[in-house]
Amino acid sequence: MINPFTDDYFMKKALQEAEMAFEKGEIPVGAVVVVNNTIIARSHNLTEMLNDVTAHAEMQSITAAANYLGGKYLKDCTLYVTLEPCQMCAGALYWSQISKIVFGARDEQRGFLSMGTKLHPKTTVVSGIMADEASDLMKRFFASRRK
Ligand SMILES: [Zn+2]
Repeated sequence: MINPFTDDYFMKKALQEAEMAFEKGEIPVGAVVVVNNTIIARSHNLTEMLNDVTAHAEMQSITAAANYLGGKYLKDCTLYVTLEPCQMCAGALYWSQISKIVFGARDEQRGFLSMGTKLHPKTTVVSGIMADEASDLMKRFFASRRK
């Protein structure tokens, strides 16, 4: 049997979250946290609605996943996020000791890779999963705002 729980499968769920942010007029970034092929947290950017610059999708997912697990460390968890995390989120992910981060599109200007932010040594990173879909969503969002 083919395993249906691929990186693409979970990234599609994160993209659905990003679409929800888009519909609310938020910069469209979505995230899910997965453990044992089960989604334990899902979130999207809410910085406008909450009037809070820390309300990035990743920050909310870290909190929700820790609440679900009943412990602050996200060991054996994978975060799927549509856009490369910023340095704030990478810093929070460092503290969570998350096992794996899978992100979609690069953020050349404000992503943690360009900023030189370090992740936890136990954390592995996969990039470029459904990157075109994630960046198309961002482009559509900013094009719609310019009108
Ligand atoms: Zn962030």
